[in-house]
Amino acid sequence: MVHTITWKEVKDGLVTDIYFERTKKILEAKGIDSYVRAELKANSLPPSWPWAVLAGVEECAEVLKDLPVDVRMMKEGTIFDPQQPIMEISGKYLDFGQYETTILGLLCQASGIATMAARCKKAAGKKDVISFGTRRMHPTIAPLIERNAYIGGCDGVSVGLGARLIGKEPSGTMPHALILIMGDTVKATRAFDEVIEPRVKRVSLIDTFNDEKIEAINVAGELGDKLYAVRLDTPSSRRGDFLEIMKEVRWELDLRGFREVKLFLSGGIDERDIERYNPLADAYGIGTAISAAPVVDFSMDIIEIDGHPLAKRGKMSGSKRVIRCRECFNTRICPLKERPGRCSCEGIEEEILVPFVSKGNLLYPLPKPSQIREFVLQQLSKVELDNNRETGWLRKTKER
Ligand SMILES: [Zn+2]
Repeated sequence: MVHTITWKEVKDGLVTDIYFERTKKILEAKGIDSYVRAELKANSLPPSWPWAVLAGVEECAEVLKDLPVDVRMMKEGTIFDPQQPIMEISGKYLDFGQYETTILGLLCQASGIATMAARCKKAAGKKDVISFGTRRMHPTIAPLIERNAYIGGCDGVSVGLGARLIGKEPSGTMPHALILIMGDTVKATRAFDEVIEPRVKRVSLIDTFNDEKIEAINVAGELGDKLYAVRLDTPSSRRGDFLEIMKEVRWELDLRGFREVKLFLSGGIDERDIERYNPLADAYGIGTAISAAPVVDFSMDIIEIDGHPLAKRGKMSGSKRVIRCRECFNTRICPLKERPGRCSCEGIEEEILVPFVSKGNLLYPLPKPSQIREFVLQQLSKVELDNNRETGWLRKTKER
C-alpha cells in the first residue's frame, strides 16, 4: 500500500479538507454562486526569517490553468515579507474553493525549502551549497525538494531525478559505506579515481577511521592535483572542535603544497553553522536544514464578494497591489486604484503581483529553474539573514 496519491487526483481537487466539501454542498443546496476574490499571504514567517522566497508556482500553475479563474501572483522566486499578498484569485467560489488545501500545500512547503536554501546560500556567499537532504523526506517528493533547493540558491543537488528536473548533473562525493567496505580511505579514494569518469570532481571523505588531518594528507599525497576537495562529515559530538579541526587540516594541506584542495563540510549543518565556518570552508552539503525546512504558513482569505470589499476580522478587504522599487526594494501594499510611480529614492516602481492566469491560460511563459535561481540570487544581495541587520528595504517596508 502506497501512502501517496497521483498528480491526477491532486488536479481533480481530491486533496481537500472536508469542511470545503461541506461548504460546497451547502452553497449548492442554497443556490448561492458568489463571485469571490481571495488572497494568499503569510501573516508571519518562521522565527528568525525576516523574508521568504516564493516557490511552488509552477506546480500551482498546473492546477490553476484548468480552473475558470483569474489569478494575479508574484513571480516564482520573488522575495517577500509577511503580510504582502503573494497571490490573488478571483472567480466563482464554487469553481475554486475546494482547491484551497491543494494550492496552499503546493506553495507552503516549496517556499519553505527555497527560503532555507536561499538563507544557506546567503550565508555561504560565493561558496558552493549542495542539497544533500532528500533522504530525510518521502522519496516521492525528491524532485520537489531538489528543484526548490536549487531555485532558492543551491549550486547543486545530490539526487539524479531531481537534478534532471533542473537540467543539471547531480553532485556527490563518496559515502562512508565505500570506505568501510574497502577498509581504507586512501584505497577507496584511489578506486574512485580509477572507476568514476574524469569529469566528476574527486572529493575524498576523510573522517571514517583516522584523524581528519592525517587522512587529508594521505589522500592528497595519493591523488595530488586530481583531488578537488576533502569532505569532513564530522559528527555533531565533535562540533565544538570543528573550526579547530578545519584549521589543522588546512594548515597541514597548505604546508605540503595542497593549497588548491578545498574543504567540503557536511553533517547537520544549517545557515548559522555556515556563517561560523565560512572563513575556512569552501563548500557545504546541507541536509535536513533544507529538505525539512519549516513551511511558510500561507493562508487564503476572501477579500471581496460580488464586487464588494469584505474580509474577516484582522484582514484588510479589497483587491491590492504590491509595488516595489527596483532600486532600493522598498515595497508597499496599496489599493488597486494606486499605480506604480517613482520611489522616494527616485527609483522606478513596479507592480510585483502580476497577472498570471486568466480563464485557463497562462499569461507568460514559465521561467526555467536556472532563471528563477538567478532572480533569487539578485534579490539576495538586497537582504540580510537577520532582522537586526535589516537592509534599508526591510526597514522601510516595516515603517510604512
Ligand atoms: Zn526606491
